[in-house]
Amino acid sequence: MSDRKPHSIPTFESPDEERTHMKQRMAAAFRLFDKFGFNEGVAGHLTGRDPADPDLFWVNPFGLSFGQIRASDLIQVDREGNVVQGDWPLNQAAFAIHSQVHQARPDVKAAAHTHSTYGRAFSTLGRPLLPLTQDSCAFFEDHAIFDDFTGVVLDVEEGKRIAHALGDNKACILRNHGLLTAGESVDEAAWWYITMERSCHVQLLAEAAAGTPIAIDDENARLTHSQVGSSLAGWFSFQPLYDKIVAEQPDLLD
Ligand SMILES: [Zn+2]
Repeated sequence: MSDRKPHSIPTFESPDEERTHMKQRMAAAFRLFDKFGFNEGVAGHLTGRDPADPDLFWVNPFGLSFGQIRASDLIQVDREGNVVQGDWPLNQAAFAIHSQVHQARPDVKAAAHTHSTYGRAFSTLGRPLLPLTQDSCAFFEDHAIFDDFTGVVLDVEEGKRIAHALGDNKACILRNHGLLTAGESVDEAAWWYITMERSCHVQLLAEAAAGTPIAIDDENARLTHSQVGSSLAGWFSFQPLYDKIVAEQPDLLD
């Protein structure tokens, strides 16, 4: 089709334009998370830092299905956890975790966390993902484990400990809980989430089979990380998913 163009990193004339773009990307990520079955009741959140005010972030309304979120449904939250735009309530766990991640990591523009099945199952093992495949090398020496489960994260002090465990990495496995990913864009954080969930699935399948899976050696895992694990690679990998979900569910842009 003639109206199709190759993807390029977007640039913006104003923070308002960038905000609209970001909220549409967030709504698309939620629809994809729904499609991939990452929702578990009311659990799970994706946040995007406001382009005009780095102390504010946007998040999904508490109790609204990922599969029904439109850009205009997202709520804006300040650093004390007050909803400053939107009518829906805020998930306290979303605030406790994400506010601290955004505060600790100025480079993080977006962070994603859900209770998806394979990430949750893998998290119970309390060990890191192995570089078993080209795709899982995106996380080689680039994810951490938070091994201190103490119930639902309602306290910002625990959010601080999670942010500390995340460190400079792109992802964290929260033991007995699930996955957390972060990125310089919504596109990137969402892609890392999707591909990390699948890498957990692959490792669980491989380890469940008779025999021991063969990991990629450190040198090649490191090389592959530089190829598939960059912010640009993460952003780019999300673009075809975005195009397809917008074509299928255009109301997400509203
Ligand atoms: Zn959670």
